[in-house]
Amino acid sequence: MNISNTKDGNGGEVISISDGLKMVMPPSPYWPESANVYVFKDNDGISLFDVGCGNIMMVDRLWRALKILGWDMLPMKKVILSHIHPDHAGAMEMILSEFNPKEIIIHEKDLVYCQQPEKLHFSFDIPICEKRRIEAIEGSQMPGPDRAGERPPGDDPKRFNLLGYFNSCKCSVCRFKPTKLLKEGDFIHIGNYSFCVVHTPGHAPGHMSLYDSKKFLLLAGDIIGDVVAWYSPSSGGATGYLKSIEKIEALKIDQILPSHGGRIIQVQEAIKSTKQTILGRDKTIIDALINGPKTYHELLNILFSTPEKQFFPGTAILECHIEKLKNEQKIRKIDSNSYVSLQKR
Ligand SMILES: [Zn+2]
Ligand SMILES: [Zn+2]
Repeated sequence: MNISNTKDGNGGEVISISDGLKMVMPPSPYWPESANVYVFKDNDGISLFDVGCGNIMMVDRLWRALKILGWDMLPMKKVILSHIHPDHAGAMEMILSEFNPKEIIIHEKDLVYCQQPEKLHFSFDIPICEKRRIEAIEGSQMPGPDRAGERPPGDDPKRFNLLGYFNSCKCSVCRFKPTKLLKEGDFIHIGNYSFCVVHTPGHAPGHMSLYDSKKFLLLAGDIIGDVVAWYSPSSGGATGYLKSIEKIEALKIDQILPSHGGRIIQVQEAIKSTKQTILGRDKTIIDALINGPKTYHELLNILFSTPEKQFFPGTAILECHIEKLKNEQKIRKIDSNSYVSLQKR
């Protein structure tokens, strides 16, 4: 693959965290840009935490970063993936063919998405989004979204082709076989770091963060960082996401290295702000319902500003909050599609 002369023209960065750890950062933290790629080096090779999108810009950025560092000829030992989403694992096809890493390591709960990427359709809860969109179109409560690539010609316009959408964003996913599966509490050595696995579902079923208790460092993945907290019922939901944040909150951390955005030194503020985003959605729903019953689609309109966001990830997020607030006996369903608050004004 000749990618050394390809220019992306919009400048990502290579940030030095330590002598043996560099962050390869895209120009923007937002989809469909890639997640950050962390490159570790020790005496006999390099290892990666997340590999980013498989598009030419990200792949070129990674190659150039390795060249600048003088690490491009070193053998690749381990590839560890925070979770199997395309912006984190999309470049696996290129990594396998170009670097042939000795080990590919993921959390055991994300194994199914390496074997059958089409199952991401369910962990993203697309069937619920589709069902709600059909309701909305039929009730004329919101137009169907119409993003490029979302509705391939000939397909049922009421269906969302998730993998087709990833392809259209030049951030596709491929099948691959991990060599090692991790779970909560396992230890893993990467470069000169020693991490404990913290299982942090909510955003993805097998999402994991890695904690070095000697260096007080957390590789957070998507749980904290420059992205809006999003979750779906099948990935652990709002309740699962909040529990994951509480696990992180209990750790002594001096520095968070997120998968989106720059490194975070104001650790407590970042944790608090993510938590507030989630709890703020609870509050928005309750405040709206205190003023009178609302339908599902009215709540969706209040929480998310555009039809695109309302469809995805809005529907999955609202579904999580309705479930959470019903379990907490703060709201109640009063007919097939409306809710009321059980809290007084
Ligand atoms: Zn993700
Ligand atoms: Zn991500």
